[in-house]
Amino acid sequence: MTIHLLLVVFGFILLNACSEQVNTDALPLGHRQDTLAPPLATTTSLIVLGNVQDAGSPHAACRKDCCADLFAHPDPTRRVVSLGVAAPADEANYLFEASPDLSIQMKWLKQFTGTDHETPSGIFLTHAHIGHYAGLMYLGKEAMNADSVPTYVMPRMEQFLTQNGPWGQLVSTGNVKLSPLRDGRAVTLDGQVVVTPFLVPHRDEYSETVGYRISGPRKTAIFLPDIDKWEKFATDINRLIESVDYAFLDATFFDAAELNTRDISQIPHPFVVESLARFASLSAEDRNKVHFIHFNHTNRLLDPRAEETRRVEAAGMHVARLFDVFEL
Ligand SMILES: [Zn+2]
Ligand SMILES: [Zn+2]
Ligand SMILES: [Zn+2]
Repeated sequence: MTIHLLLVVFGFILLNACSEQVNTDALPLGHRQDTLAPPLATTTSLIVLGNVQDAGSPHAACRKDCCADLFAHPDPTRRVVSLGVAAPADEANYLFEASPDLSIQMKWLKQFTGTDHETPSGIFLTHAHIGHYAGLMYLGKEAMNADSVPTYVMPRMEQFLTQNGPWGQLVSTGNVKLSPLRDGRAVTLDGQVVVTPFLVPHRDEYSETVGYRISGPRKTAIFLPDIDKWEKFATDINRLIESVDYAFLDATFFDAAELNTRDISQIPHPFVVESLARFASLSAEDRNKVHFIHFNHTNRLLDPRAEETRRVEAAGMHVARLFDVFEL
């Protein structure tokens, strides 16, 4: 299961110790972040590099309690949703999503892999909502001017990136090299990693939306950060969970009460309470595979000490946290 290496545990102990015993505000931010580093992968593994919804935490213009303190005191563990996969023996690594936190997530993936190369062996995009692709800008001319980073995209996503500025410049300049994906067709990569996209229902203004099945030599995960209600998904999510070893699933909102300023029916995602009810019929072994991810800034699951977090854990499931590591 989760291979939390000593280093990261030690890092968190340091971090927690700091926050309780030392006035960390007195330290330069860079110093505080020094304690935050991913472990080194010893075998083909998946790492959580971010668990927050597209817009991050703190959230622009938020005036609620959830973000009140975070503008002055950012939580360095709150990064926009992303997974990394490392196959250290082959020095291969793959980034799922190009989030607005891409700069630090690429560095963490490099450290996790133990390699010299700064850019991933491949980037896989799920869809064209800001938290899932906007980080591509850091590969462009005004930024690192990357050279041909293999970027895997579905057909509409490819069209969107190619035909619209500023993204088209990344393609024409050769900062990214787009590789086409097809629904249900597996891509075999270096390091015995196999990635298969599958279409899911979502708000598809600019691109289709996919989830990914990610297999290593031993284990398989699914990554499904954004999806409409489970009822709208042609696949039975419970059967899908049973067919894999880990499932990273959309948990944007905990329940309908969470957002009191917008019509929740206009924001279709499976609420965590709905998922908990639906997954209750799974065996304990299958429930143990569920790792909720992609939390809106209002979602109390962002807080490890929240009552909502205890509810998920009591139901035999998990909340994905930064640097959680899983053998693949
Ligand atoms: Zn999203
Ligand atoms: Zn907020
Ligand atoms: Zn989305």
